[in-house]
Amino acid sequence: MRNLVLVLGDQLDGRSAAFDGFDKERDVILQMEVMEEAAYITQHKLRIAYFFSSMRHFREDMTARGRRVHYVVIDDPKNTGSFETEIIRIRKLLNPDHVIALEPGDWRIAEKLRRLPQPVEIRTDRHFFSTRNEFAAFTRDHPRHILETFYRYMRRRTGVLMDKAGKPVGSAWNYDEQNRKPFGKHAPAIPAVLAFKMDPISTEVRDVVSRRFASSPGKLDTIDLPVSRAQALEQLEDFVCNRLPLFGTYQDAMRNGEPFLYHSRLSGPLNLHLLTPAEVIDAALKSPDAPLNALEGFVRQILGWREYVRGIYWQRMPHYADENALEAQLRMPRFFWTAETDMRCLADAISHTINHAYAHHIERLMVMGLFAMLLGVAPYEVHRWHMSMFWDAVDWVSLPNTLGMSQYGDGGVMGTKPYAASGAYINRMSDHCKGCRFDPKKSVGDDACPFTTLYWNFLAKHRKRFTSNGRMRNQYLNLDRKSAEELRAVRRRADLLAAKPP
Ligand code: FAD
Ligand code: SF4
Repeated sequence: MRNLVLVLGDQLDGRSAAFDGFDKERDVILQMEVMEEAAYITQHKLRIAYFFSSMRHFREDMTARGRRVHYVVIDDPKNTGSFETEIIRIRKLLNPDHVIALEPGDWRIAEKLRRLPQPVEIRTDRHFFSTRNEFAAFTRDHPRHILETFYRYMRRRTGVLMDKAGKPVGSAWNYDEQNRKPFGKHAPAIPAVLAFKMDPISTEVRDVVSRRFASSPGKLDTIDLPVSRAQALEQLEDFVCNRLPLFGTYQDAMRNGEPFLYHSRLSGPLNLHLLTPAEVIDAALKSPDAPLNALEGFVRQILGWREYVRGIYWQRMPHYADENALEAQLRMPRFFWTAETDMRCLADAISHTINHAYAHHIERLMVMGLFAMLLGVAPYEVHRWHMSMFWDAVDWVSLPNTLGMSQYGDGGVMGTKPYAASGAYINRMSDHCKGCRFDPKKSVGDDACPFTTLYWNFLAKHRKRFTSNGRMRNQYLNLDRKSAEELRAVRRRADLLAAKPP
């Protein structure tokens, strides 16, 4: 045979560069379910099931197109359990002239392929709008390469939401004023989520995962996620019709018991390459109903943040994973695995995570991530927990978002200031605090909101580092209004919270 085309679990696109020149008669696709990938970090059952089911659906799709697939299932007694050993084994078995792969999304996997005894031809991934080289050139040209600069560069470069004169459509680069509304009493009904029916492939996968990964975290009653390209396109259409028009307005809102609100839940199919970011943006731009604030808010996530975090990841790995600017050392509190906490906002966000392997961005950043940062959890621990609990978690997205954006572990690369806030923010953006035993306004006393206590303690503890940061000026002016006695009491309660989070 001629080429063995390696398709990893997050590369499920039959039009990717790995298939350029693919010859049905002479080439074979190789897909592998290996224990090492499913277990190198303990993972939510639904995440493993989502990957396996999507991979098996891709195999069906390729076979239906007449492409030959050599597929190694997790239960195959000959399966040696790791990518390296399986590639070596299958290479011996099929004896191809060449092995071809798309550049892996994760640094760890790229290293594994690089270290194989026989070379693998690595092809550039066309899934993204920008390449790693383009990002590197961008950062050379823009020493202060914050997201906003990159986002505007990408808008200009792609022409997305730009007018003929080269100006942003609507004359503004962002619509944050309209896009940061809480989900108030008079908000419209939340559309029901699209839940896909289990088919024989997903049923088989659910049984395998329930058996082989019984002690993994999270629930796995059903796999109702988009596991094929056809379902991913359906999910995209559902989002554009039913959620996109209010996406911007409620992008930052939280509501107790409501995990999805107006979010797209497209991160999974995007990260597995069942959809391309270009077709997602095209579909959004064609919406007849979406106002500009919604479109801009959504485009910013895909064309801005998603491309930006990938650029930062590849530019700064492997040392990025070790960064810990604030020298935070604690471990994740136990309740992050169980949702057993009196803090209503955290109990709700963690329940969403356990039940759906999903929480939306603000719950990840401004509830779970915020608590971990204020408490002083080591950033890589937070990343590990994130990788364990979310269906869309892949290293290149999770690491910059978790270690960088949410924990400030990179010392200001992903954001020019830490996302530090007190319970007042959560109170403003959600209905959690009304039913909570803590009071978001109080920083000391038994009923003081732990977020509020830890927030003041965080500012005081890191005063030297942040006091001259212009974007934190008001935060430090407010801190300076507190008496020394009050700050001592805050410190005492913060120490108690670190020793025994409620
Ligand atoms: P929507 O709110 O509908 O947003 C639309 C799309 O924009 C998403 O599907 C996603 O592809 C993209 N997007 C939005 N924000 C970001 C961002 N900050 N970085 C990259 N892409 C973004 N996203 C992942 O895909 N995988 C991860 O492992 C991941 N880890 C995260 C960890 C933390 C601590 C934080 C704060 C964010 C993380 N994100 C991650 C980014 C973001 O929270 C998720 O992409 C989003 O919540 C997924 O839900 P959605 O598809 O409904 O997104
Ligand atoms: Fe969360 Fe504090 Fe509000 Fe309780 S009072 S829900 S702990 S922010």
